[in-house]
Amino acid sequence: MPIIETAVRARGVEATIYTLRNAGGLEAEILTYGGTLRALRAPGRDGQMADIVLGFDDLEGYLGPHPYLGSLIGRYANRIRAGRFSLGGATYTLAVNNGPNHLHGGPGGFHRVLWEAQPLDAPDGPSLTLAYSSPDGEEGYPGRLSVVVSYTLTDRNDLRIDYEARADRETVVNLTNHAYFNLAGEGTIHGHELQLAASRFLPIDETSIPLGELRSVVGTPFDFRRPALIGPRLEADDPQIRLAQGFDHCYVIDKTPGELAFAARVVEPESGRTLEVYTTQPGVQLYTGNFLTAEGTIVGKGGRAYPQYGALCLETQHFPDSPNQPQFPSTVLRPGEHYRQTTVYRLGVR
Ligand code: BGC
Repeated sequence: MPIIETAVRARGVEATIYTLRNAGGLEAEILTYGGTLRALRAPGRDGQMADIVLGFDDLEGYLGPHPYLGSLIGRYANRIRAGRFSLGGATYTLAVNNGPNHLHGGPGGFHRVLWEAQPLDAPDGPSLTLAYSSPDGEEGYPGRLSVVVSYTLTDRNDLRIDYEARADRETVVNLTNHAYFNLAGEGTIHGHELQLAASRFLPIDETSIPLGELRSVVGTPFDFRRPALIGPRLEADDPQIRLAQGFDHCYVIDKTPGELAFAARVVEPESGRTLEVYTTQPGVQLYTGNFLTAEGTIVGKGGRAYPQYGALCLETQHFPDSPNQPQFPSTVLRPGEHYRQTTVYRLGVR
């Protein structure tokens, strides 16, 4: 299947959109600016196609402020308390860009860099490999970090993202993709059904930093071990949900460390579209687009303004603030070590 290349430019930035198409008619668009998943078009039960991720029509939208729509996130996805951590006897200071904390790698994180792209017609489907070398000290992080991320659209209707990184000094790393999914292609996710392979989640403080406890979901609105509609849960009278105005919490996936395992399943009953998530990561941040309107109206593709709860993110990752919480699985990467993470988004119909 051909991979189509489209050159885009705005404000002196020259980038490329690669369109990958698989045998099943699935289409993914990746923009080299931010390594962004710009579009993902999938058929519904009756074959009707819809773009199931939020984003912008043109590069200009991505250059402006936006909440990481489809972006690659690094060097550290999610929050680091007070933008500070210690490693090897030194203390590192990062930008504080989310209340009192550091979020998603800082203002000049991986969502703001131009990735070098290499398309490949691989045996399991069209693929795009993105590379970026982050210099020592960039956004306050120690060491040079060389990152390679591949998006592959396989013929079994998986969008697989493989991440790799190496460092020349001891550092911390936590990479993810920040796609906002709406399987209906419009409206809100109130009618979406969600299942999560997680018996525990990480409760947060009022600045969204994990308290350090791995809390059982049993008897709480956080229990998605069996499929449940998201809408009513957003209204639940629960202090953790009120804190975040919805779900914005990291779940501890029930799995063996390192293995690629089932993490989540989303079903949109009307169109029949389904999304399954598999990952090698220990956690998945469920974010239900709580703040989509709070930080200014986002006018996305087709000139539509995205509403609060207009999408959900399933950000596969290590736990937030791990560099400051030694009881969490380590996010330290040392020279000679090889960071790897794989996440599979499997599209289907029911
Ligand atoms: C965070 C949210 C934040 C969103 C967009 C999510 O990963 O957990 O708190 O609003 O990203 O920045």
